[in-house]
Amino acid sequence: MVHFVGAGPGAKDLITIRGKELIEKADVIIYAGSLVNPDLLDYAQKSCEIYDSSKLDLNEVIEIIRTAEKNAKNTVRLHTGDPSIYGAIREQMDILDKENIAYDTTPGVSSFCGAAASLNMEYTLPGITQSVIITRMDGRTKVPEKESLEALSSHGATMVFFLSAGDTKRLSDRLIGSGVPEDTPCALVYKATWPDEKKVVCTIKDLPEKARENGISKTALIIVGKAVAQSGYELSRLYAPDFSTEFRKGKET
Ligand code: SAH
Repeated sequence: MVHFVGAGPGAKDLITIRGKELIEKADVIIYAGSLVNPDLLDYAQKSCEIYDSSKLDLNEVIEIIRTAEKNAKNTVRLHTGDPSIYGAIREQMDILDKENIAYDTTPGVSSFCGAAASLNMEYTLPGITQSVIITRMDGRTKVPEKESLEALSSHGATMVFFLSAGDTKRLSDRLIGSGVPEDTPCALVYKATWPDEKKVVCTIKDLPEKARENGISKTALIIVGKAVAQSGYELSRLYAPDFSTEFRKGKET
């Protein structure tokens, strides 16, 4: 059996209990060495075979799984953050389906949640925005035209850019070029929740300079939108004293 497991954003104790237990029981682990904290492998048995998928192509990953299956071994495929976000899991699962190899998925804390935690930030501030757009700037991988940065930024929602820290100048220019005010706040969070995490809050205009100053060009998220300022919002209705819910009767004002 193959277990796709979300490793969490970095900190060793931000994997789920289920994920940790699966690592403890694994005979084979294939982990994304470019982003998964190798300290998580401390949870594995001494006898566990460990492979770094950053050095492997899809066929090589599958071949390791096939061999493990032939020997009735338990495999953990350890992906960074949550496997559902830019995890390239579907292509693996489709092959496993064809070969009748059973699998399941254990979620993880995505880095966009890790980054928000590091900033003590709420993405969905009432009166500012009620939506978070998870996206990336196009690069070697194309983004559908309707989801271009220009199209998505017109919503004014909080935007979280994955896989885009390599060209903050282009990101900044395109946002400003599409009408996003240049003083819009943004945050650059490098290796959120890792011991060497760095976080910078600035404006979209200053983003390229801040990225350069801090030497950040990968393993980072860029969060854009008014919510980054964490001010000017309205209080929630849910906790308003006069608001009744199924669990609490509102007080008359
Ligand atoms: N499945 C992962 C994302 C994989 S794509 C998740 O849920 O987080 C890889 C990209 O994720 C990186 O280029 C970077 O943009 C982002 N990323 C992953 N871990 C990160 C971390 N700890 N801090 C900041 N960004 C991170």
